[in-house]
Formats: sequence, structure tokens, C-alpha cells
Amino acid sequence: MHSKIPFVSYFPSRRIAFSTTLAQIRHDSAGRQETAVYLSLNSKVLILNQSYEPISVCSTKKALLLLFLTKAEIVEGRGASVVRTVRECYPFPSVIRLSAYLRVPFRKIELSRKNILRRDGFRCQYCGANQSPLTVDHIIPRSRGGNDTWENLTCACVKCNNKKGNRTPDEASMRLTGVPKKPHHVLFLKHYLGKVEETWRPYLFMD
Ligand SMILES: [Zn+2]
Repeated sequence: MHSKIPFVSYFPSRRIAFSTTLAQIRHDSAGRQETAVYLSLNSKVLILNQSYEPISVCSTKKALLLLFLTKAEIVEGRGASVVRTVRECYPFPSVIRLSAYLRVPFRKIELSRKNILRRDGFRCQYCGANQSPLTVDHIIPRSRGGNDTWENLTCACVKCNNKKGNRTPDEASMRLTGVPKKPHHVLFLKHYLGKVEETWRPYLFMD
């Protein structure tokens, strides 16, 4: 059973004091232990829903607050790094999972030229080119009854688009490299994240 929790009450703005220093134990080339301490509470943490679906990112500070309030559990830590509060010691989080299912109203992904190109990785879906100018091709041409849908639009380079002309891929003997479909919000989350950490990859369906 998934309970519905309002977003606001799930992410309280209560302030809890955490030590702002992160202690990391490392070993130097001679195997001696050394401790590096630096400020890193602003580094990003990936938030997974209870279902393990990635939802968003937050600061380490916010992640610690959720862990502290037992609203989340740690899924992946950052090596041997720990964060200390007055009483406890937490592994430094990299990926956390909410303890209850959170219904997230993801914004509808608008069907636009930019989003088609983004979905297709800015790569022609016929020849794989990503350097030449890119266009949006109607797989079933408009004049043949093809609609403006995620399934019927694809990224194509100018060369392939011209070659295909007013034909279907079958008629032009041009095979698509993938099946175009409506993108999942994770794709756009990835885009928004920019730099993806190694520990996040399995949760962003990148492996
Ligand atoms: Zn092409």
C-alpha cells in the first residue's frame, strides 16, 4: 500500500544542526591513514522514491535531514566518508530512498522540436550522425496521414531527411535505429542533472 504524502510536509524546512565538516579517511601511497576534512554539505544526493524510481536531487544537508527524520534510508554512501552530528555518525549519502511512496506530479513533457532532439540524444535516428544540422522527421509523412506524436517524430540529419523525402522508412529502405516513444521523466532528469555520479548510474537506467 502506498500512502500519499504531500510534498511539502515530506520535505520540512526545519533546521537541524549538522557538523559542517566531512571527515574522510584515506590511505596514502605508503598505506598510512590520513584524514582529510573539507566542507561538502552542498554536494548533490540523488533521491529515489520508495519504488526506487529516481525523483530528484537535493543537497547533502537536506538528505541528512530526511535520514535524521527517518523519512529516507541511505542506499549508496560516498566511500568511507561520514558525517557526524552531536550524537550520531552517518555515512555520507550519495543516493537515498524515501521510506514512503511519494506521489510526484511530474510536469508533462512538451512535444517540441527541442525535446524530440533531446530524447534522441541529438543524433540522427537513421544514420547516427550527430554533427550535421538536425531536423525533425515525420516517420509516416504528414501528407500520408502521419501525426505529430512522440511515436511518429524522430531526429534526422538533413541528408537523411532529404533522402527519405515523402516516403515511409520501408519505402525508402531506411531503418530507424530505435523505436521512438514518449520519453520518461528520468531522461529529462538526467539532462537537468548534468554531471552524473558513478553511484547514481544504476538508478538512472544508464547501465
Ligand atoms: Zn542521417
